[in-house]
Amino acid sequence: MGLKVVKFGGSSLADAEQFRKVAAIIKADPNRRYVVASAPGKRFSGDVKVTDMLYHCYEMVRNREDITEYYEQISQRYNGIIRDLGLDFDISGELDYIRNAILHHSGRDFAASRGEYLNSLILAKLLGFDFIDAESVVFFRENGVYDDEKTDEELKKELKNHEYAVIPGFYGVMPNGTIKTFSRGGSDITGSIVARAADAELYENWTDVSGCLMADPRIVEEPLPIKTITYRELRELSYMGASVLHEDAIFPVRYAGIPINIRNTNVPSAPGTMIVSSTNEYDTERVITGIAGKKGFSVITVEKDMMNSEIGFGRKILDVLEDNDMPFEHLPSGVDTMSVIVATSYLESRRDRIVASINKRVRPDSIVIEDGLALLAVVGRGMVKSKGTAARVFDAISDADINIRMIDQGSSELNIIVGVEEHDLEKALNAIYKEFVK
Ligand code: ASP
Repeated sequence: MGLKVVKFGGSSLADAEQFRKVAAIIKADPNRRYVVASAPGKRFSGDVKVTDMLYHCYEMVRNREDITEYYEQISQRYNGIIRDLGLDFDISGELDYIRNAILHHSGRDFAASRGEYLNSLILAKLLGFDFIDAESVVFFRENGVYDDEKTDEELKKELKNHEYAVIPGFYGVMPNGTIKTFSRGGSDITGSIVARAADAELYENWTDVSGCLMADPRIVEEPLPIKTITYRELRELSYMGASVLHEDAIFPVRYAGIPINIRNTNVPSAPGTMIVSSTNEYDTERVITGIAGKKGFSVITVEKDMMNSEIGFGRKILDVLEDNDMPFEHLPSGVDTMSVIVATSYLESRRDRIVASINKRVRPDSIVIEDGLALLAVVGRGMVKSKGTAARVFDAISDADINIRMIDQGSSELNIIVGVEEHDLEKALNAIYKEFVK
């Protein structure tokens, strides 16, 4: 077995007990050489993540409030972990330095990043691994975009100097030396970046669920776990709201063809989900890999006689959206109608402007905007090989007495998108799950 990069999320490093589980997992396999750590997450429901506490400190300073007591709670979380682990390690100097830096307006991202920085120092100490500060190996460009080339080059060089190391997730450095973070949940991205630079055989992403599930467990009762999923399938499901991994974490490893294994720190014996670039063995006992759905869409329907022969009609409508900075999701069309599906949240402030501009540009017979649409995606690489999947999806939905408002199947045959009324979404997802799984 080759080298593994392992990333542990906030709930896996929330207290000393979790740290011990993490150490046992790492020590169980000498190939687990590079570890990316998050900040301490929630220990129980209602608890506050350290990252959120740090953001709060930053806001307090901006509002000229005294952070002494609040910051003390952060110090106590770290000191508590060190004490409960029985480590001989004094981080009071670090904690003082950070408090002062926050007081002296060192920036919002700097404040937030210290959660992973301190946690990684402690984990490195516990494991006896080297510590590599992300500040010296993860780079952003002047415009704030992550600099993949420079990072990959520098990180590769640095990793060669360390057989075993802990690297804080979530942040890197701007050309002017200030700290910058990825968006929330960004330690997943750091893990992926390190896996690529280390040329890892596997990127293990340890969290608090046993991998991706076939459906949202809040909607479908006890959905089955997904054993193997391709990056593309995962993108489709994530876009529709399924979340186990930061969206951008896929790119660095996908580029390098490194699989990701989602694992559960609290159930280390569970195999979790493998995310791979392609599967030869169509291990699809099932035609579908997963289903997901999202509410909050609107349909703009533009009708005009002879629309189909009017050259440039579609482009003009899309121009109107572009002029208003408005992305669209789908474009189902008829002979004399064109519908554009958009997220209602985008539409809200632009509704009147968009209607007026479309009227002006294409002089339609009518424009109707309907809200309250939900989209659901049935995703599966197995669909290409099996006939009748669409029919089964539609039958399941109509047998549940649900009206289908829109259908869209990409020619890649990786997914079928169905639009239903928002209040029907849960029922539709359950009906499809039942059809394909039980
Ligand atoms: N600690 C950061 C957050 O809470 C990053 C991460 O955990 O991935 O968003």
